Amino acid sequence: MDADLDEVLQAVAEAARPRASQGRTPSYIESLAHADQDSFAIAVVEMDGTEHAVGDADQPVAIQSISKVFTLALAMQAADGAEGVAEELWRRVGVEPSGDPYNSLVQLERERGVPRNPMINAGALVVDDVLLDHRSDAPEAVVELLSQLAGEPVTIDDLVRQETAESASRNRAIAHLMASFGNLTHTVDEVLDAYLHQCAAAITTRQLARAIRFLGNDGVDPATGRTVLEPERARRVAALMLTCGTYDSAGQFAFDVGFPCKSGVSGAIVGIVRHRFGVCVWSPPLEESGNSLAGHVALHELAQRLDLWTH
Ligand code: GLN
Repeated sequence: MDADLDEVLQAVAEAARPRASQGRTPSYIESLAHADQDSFAIAVVEMDGTEHAVGDADQPVAIQSISKVFTLALAMQAADGAEGVAEELWRRVGVEPSGDPYNSLVQLERERGVPRNPMINAGALVVDDVLLDHRSDAPEAVVELLSQLAGEPVTIDDLVRQETAESASRNRAIAHLMASFGNLTHTVDEVLDAYLHQCAAAITTRQLARAIRFLGNDGVDPATGRTVLEPERARRVAALMLTCGTYDSAGQFAFDVGFPCKSGVSGAIVGIVRHRFGVCVWSPPLEESGNSLAGHVALHELAQRLDLWTH
């Protein structure tokens, strides 16, 4: 890794930070709506554990949709063998980009309750339903996995948990629509409970950059050597991040950034550069698809400055 990575991150932050003023924080979750628009952090954690960070990298933020990557990993891990994964997951959730907003109901009606992919809300609810088949403690399981991978305890932000529950009408509607097509086996309340819980995990930019590394390391947590996912399954999660992880901007992200990313409505975005590092950027104001605007710019800058496409 370049010796001057700290300087690169400084330059990336300088280039990206001012762009935040062009974005908007989401209005439907109170604490996110009032988040400090000037907050900014970027962290890179190399596979050997070397950490680089600029800005508010140790401030906890709600993980929101980035949790979808980790619940998908848990559900894929729980299913028995490749056939088990295909039968339990890929029969019930697709692997195509949606081209629609992350909380849209439109496609779901047309496609008979089968979500396009696990990175949108509908898909994540099905993933939670699958996980609940294997683990009655599914809501806790993702927090446990995050804590293991971050190397530090990750907790639930009760205020965010409550606010996300209060603004869950749309997610509830999505769950009911899927249940009407027979694509949920647990009750809407159980599935929603697991989903809302995972979205409220409070985690720092630095911890997320650490935690996501296993996907760029053939499924093995580089900190402990523990296999979280088989290499083939890890590759597939990364493929879904690349094609679907930033919703209806996934094409633009692949075009600009080029490595797999996953965003959350709190303004965090994680990325993986295979066999090199995990990265996380955080800036609360979002673009129209619900991805951090300055975060997108920062990851584009990082890819350019490190010439990541040619590696
Ligand atoms: N809790 C949010 C929701 O369900 C998560 C969405 C997101 O981060 N994009 O709407």
